[in-house]
Amino acid sequence: MRLDQSSEKSRSIKELRDQLLALTRELNNTTEKLQVLELITDLNELPDSDLTPDEIGDLIKKRKKISHEIIAIKKRIQKLSAKTILKTELVVLPLIAVLLFYGAENQIHHTIAQPNHIKTRYLIENLAGNPNPTYKYWNIAKGIPLTVSIVNPNNLNQDKISVVKKAILSTQSVEISNLQLGTSPSSGNTLYFKGWQGALDTINNTRFNIPTNFHIVQSIDGPGQIVITLSDLEDPDGYSGYTRSIVDNSQILKSYITIYDAGNLSDHRLAAIVRHEFGHALGLPHTSDAQDLMHAVIETNYPYVSPCDIKDIQDVYDGNPSPNSCSIQ
Ligand SMILES: [Zn+2]
Repeated sequence: MRLDQSSEKSRSIKELRDQLLALTRELNNTTEKLQVLELITDLNELPDSDLTPDEIGDLIKKRKKISHEIIAIKKRIQKLSAKTILKTELVVLPLIAVLLFYGAENQIHHTIAQPNHIKTRYLIENLAGNPNPTYKYWNIAKGIPLTVSIVNPNNLNQDKISVVKKAILSTQSVEISNLQLGTSPSSGNTLYFKGWQGALDTINNTRFNIPTNFHIVQSIDGPGQIVITLSDLEDPDGYSGYTRSIVDNSQILKSYITIYDAGNLSDHRLAAIVRHEFGHALGLPHTSDAQDLMHAVIETNYPYVSPCDIKDIQDVYDGNPSPNSCSIQ
């Protein structure tokens, strides 16, 4: 009888989780539609402007409704899980403690295992919502700051915000021996940067101005050109980071970065994802080198801005539509 009840509970938790994923997908689609409409309204490029406020209003209502449903379902899952945990913890907890003890003993010898296999997604689309695969760049006057908003709807603590900021603004570099990296030549070191600022500052003149002046604000409605949302939702397809850039002609107009399940990421993983996604926001594509920061799945133990990432950014802003310094030749 007890077994029946608990399997019924896990079945309903599973059903609720599936519902949650479907709603998250719907929320993402609605948000994306809304973002394009708002951007078009900002640019005054919609031919029939009377239509927009209604459409935007409807989408805002829809988004609100979905968000409420998501919160309700999350609460139900929490409640059900808590009950299930209470019943099983007495039996399972001592076992977990023993396993953790042995796990920790074995892990002491290889501590730099993170971050492993972080899945990321990247999309460029034009104002009509069509995918636009060619590489694009920001076209802003020299010295004009690019505003980066951090949207933190779940009030993650300021330590997390500071991790995000550092991945962009830090000028700190780190030298890693080529022997350790397994690259050729095996002697000497390779210089990486922990933040994009330090990396971009090493680049001299390019055909188009590379943004090097970032004004970071925290906001609920995401003003500015790059919006980083720290979501507490899990992506339905298992991605940890997602950048979507909206472009017109050759110009990036806005980049939306979403970090999924941000509250459960270690600082190291969070920084790695922000570095990777910010690379996209600046115009970088994915690379075929699995050991580079800009690989679609972040696998490297050194997820910092690499010399070839810097070369690729330089190429993008020199007008080269297919930078490939980081690709395996
Ligand atoms: Zn990516």
